Amino acid sequence: MKRSARTKDGETWRVAIVPIRLSGADYRRAHEACHKAASLWNFFLASIQEYWKENETDPTEKEMRHFLYEQRPDLRDGLHAHTVQLILGDLMDAVSTYRSNRDSGDKNARAPHREKNYRPLEFTAGFGWRVTPDGRRIALSFGKGHKRIALPLPEIADPKTGEILPSERWGSMQLCWDRNARKWSLHISVPTPKPPQGNPDIIAAIDEGIINPMTVAIETEDSYDVLVVNGRHARAVKHYRNTRIATLQEKLSRCVKGSKRWRKLNAKRKRIEAMTDSALHNANHQTTRKVADFMQAHDAGRIVTGDVRGIEKSTRKDEAKRVRNTKNQRRRLSQWSRGRQETLLEHKTGMAIEHIDESWSSKTCPACQTRNHPNGRGYHCHNCGFTCNRDAVGAINILIRAKNGSYQPMDTNKTVHVKYLRATPIFQPKTGVEHGVIPGTGA
Ligand SMILES: [Zn+2]
Repeated sequence: MKRSARTKDGETWRVAIVPIRLSGADYRRAHEACHKAASLWNFFLASIQEYWKENETDPTEKEMRHFLYEQRPDLRDGLHAHTVQLILGDLMDAVSTYRSNRDSGDKNARAPHREKNYRPLEFTAGFGWRVTPDGRRIALSFGKGHKRIALPLPEIADPKTGEILPSERWGSMQLCWDRNARKWSLHISVPTPKPPQGNPDIIAAIDEGIINPMTVAIETEDSYDVLVVNGRHARAVKHYRNTRIATLQEKLSRCVKGSKRWRKLNAKRKRIEAMTDSALHNANHQTTRKVADFMQAHDAGRIVTGDVRGIEKSTRKDEAKRVRNTKNQRRRLSQWSRGRQETLLEHKTGMAIEHIDESWSSKTCPACQTRNHPNGRGYHCHNCGFTCNRDAVGAINILIRAKNGSYQPMDTNKTVHVKYLRATPIFQPKTGVEHGVIPGTGA
């Protein structure tokens, strides 16, 4: 992998997704190759498990390749040598991740064990894939003696600068099948300018939630600037998906599996899943883009968020909490895409997110430290009269805690500026009346 030669200083990698169409024969060949890649993974998995029975250590990659050449050389047929190497590399990476998690005391860490039926194919730059001599197509290699798959050369521009990235600068690419959308796509690694690192003394504190996926607070010289990103549209998409899928599932359960009607309904279910998945993916990107831009405008160099990891675990039907967590709340929590959002924000800012304890952050009054029980989306302190958006209070408290190690009164000479933005996916189901909106707060 000649990745490093393809990025300049101050650049990092991102993945550009390019939808593609494959002709009938190529379509079948690509599917076959993805199944082959899975068989190869399964073979390596079985070999390493066999090895562990007789040895205390892990085999080397060289030993693993030997097992393949000796026992199943046929499995390499139809895959480029680098594709084979990358599959082995992935398994060895998974094993070493498992080892280091074990060493750091994670008792739940498990060695890779799951067999696969399907794996995307990865092609290295200059070997696995290359541009055809006429410069108009890219050819994906499937190893010696096998025809290549040629595709029109896509044009990729950087979303921030608009600059066209020539194919000489692309890294490896993956040929992926989306089973819900029933479409092929190329996931191409391309260089992108590294985001500015900001001033580490300026903290962006984030309160993550279900109604407003991200609320950011940053302290300036004369104010607390807060950005509330509204997730109403993403919520509508989730609601639409849940109700439509439930209805279809109900109808499916009354059909004979595999019948004409069953197939028709199942195809519909997949279509809805593909459509809503991409809408939610898009909403997560929009949310994190807005937060990253807000941080950049304030030159923030640290991201701190409240720690609620484990919240999903505690929502199971354990006796003490059963009454409080209604079925609906449980579903909303488990569909909360905060993990994905955090990863996207880390990519967009090039910073690691720090987690701190956030207990009482949404109840404590930032002005006088009294604990209130806000109803609805607004926060009003019964002691000092401080009034603000509820999520903004959470973010401001997290900010103060990140700075001082505990909750302390905010600087009341500074004003609180709250700005509202929406993350609006392209696909929007028709919705009825919006509930729970406080006029004027946008929340
Ligand atoms: Zn107060």
